[in-house]
Amino acid sequence: MKCAKCGREFVPWRPSDTTCWPCPGPPPVPELPPRAEPASLGQRERAIVWLTAQLTDGPLEANEVERRAKAANISLTTLKRAKKALDVRSVRVGGLGNCGVWVWQLPSEGNGAR
Ligand SMILES: [Zn+2]
Repeated sequence: MKCAKCGREFVPWRPSDTTCWPCPGPPPVPELPPRAEPASLGQRERAIVWLTAQLTDGPLEANEVERRAKAANISLTTLKRAKKALDVRSVRVGGLGNCGVWVWQLPSEGNGAR
């Protein structure tokens, strides 16, 4: 049966036993790391996964990435961090001025292989 105090499995000596002996007591409650920033870290991780998915099919216009990020509830700051973490490159394609656009691409692409 399970000890009422510490939750460990034990064999009771008497039918009235509800705790093991010697009982070490309840297990310590795991403390959160003091420097943990679960919210912001999670945001960044999520953005990295998201951004990878967006660019995995090929380069995407920077404006389009930002628009989609907004729709996915990813802040611009988080998006930029994810971009940096993934080493995503901004590449100018097309012509000058309105003829060209900035696209984002993953570093594995654009090595001249295609
Ligand atoms: Zn116990």
